[in-house]
Amino acid sequence: MKRATTTLAPLAAVLALTLAACGTTSAQMKKPSTSNGTAPATQAASAPPPASILPYRQTGLPTAVQQGSMIVGTTDPGASVQYGDRHLRVSPNGRFVFAIGRDATGPVTVTVNEPVAGKKRYTVNILPRDWPIETINGVPPNTVNPPPEIAARIAREQSSVAEVRTRDDAREDFAQPFIWPVQGRISGRFGNQRVYNGTPKSPHSGMDIAAANGTPIKAPAAGIVTFASPSLYLTGGTVVIDHGAGVSSNFLHLSRIDVKVGDRVEQGQVFGAVGATGRATGPHLHWGMNWFDVRMDPLLVLESAK
Ligand SMILES: [Zn+2]
Repeated sequence: MKRATTTLAPLAAVLALTLAACGTTSAQMKKPSTSNGTAPATQAASAPPPASILPYRQTGLPTAVQQGSMIVGTTDPGASVQYGDRHLRVSPNGRFVFAIGRDATGPVTVTVNEPVAGKKRYTVNILPRDWPIETINGVPPNTVNPPPEIAARIAREQSSVAEVRTRDDAREDFAQPFIWPVQGRISGRFGNQRVYNGTPKSPHSGMDIAAANGTPIKAPAAGIVTFASPSLYLTGGTVVIDHGAGVSSNFLHLSRIDVKVGDRVEQGQVFGAVGATGRATGPHLHWGMNWFDVRMDPLLVLESAK
């Protein structure tokens, strides 16, 4: 007990000073040490480590992640979090989320304005990955070099999908451990540089899972359906599920869609079926994930859920 008194007393003093500097009321200041009506030293001696008696939750962030990662951080629910030019939504549980793009280089900085502690900067290093070239032949030529009259349609469709990705809903479905939407071999990896019928195209924006036509697709995490269309030019049957705070999943080439915009789906709920609609050489599920317009690798999200 004596030892705890000597180590904890200075901490309490510092805490009181910090709180005073922040202009916090004296009632709040006293809370950590006198909430049980016991003397500070007595309570500290029987209590767990000092961190747990602090009136705020400390910020938790990984120190390094791979390109294409989703980062779920934790902090005090009263904190404000800034990443780049974006103010990140902090959930009532103190969770916040952002993603590191395929071509991002680090380190990146997250600025957290914590109650009591004030503004702190956290650094996340980015581990570069290799992006192999993937050659895909036998794709319908009109989907690789669309005729001009089709280009306008494609642009329109892509902007309507981009629009739903600007949502910043106050849900934290993204914090669920994600599950595979279908079981199968990975037939195309996120980020690979793609060459269709000899023409270099943009990197693969998601992960392809080989599965038979008609295989039921399960929601990898809960969310709200924000887009559902049976026949986009490039992506065919297309569904977007929003997991909150800018995180969304898109599912392409579907042969069947069982949901409509506005529906809530729970994790594991079947919302459609695998197909080969749009630019596809055969039936498979393309699953892409975004944080706003930043694309991330669903495989890393699955791996982090283990
Ligand atoms: Zn794909």
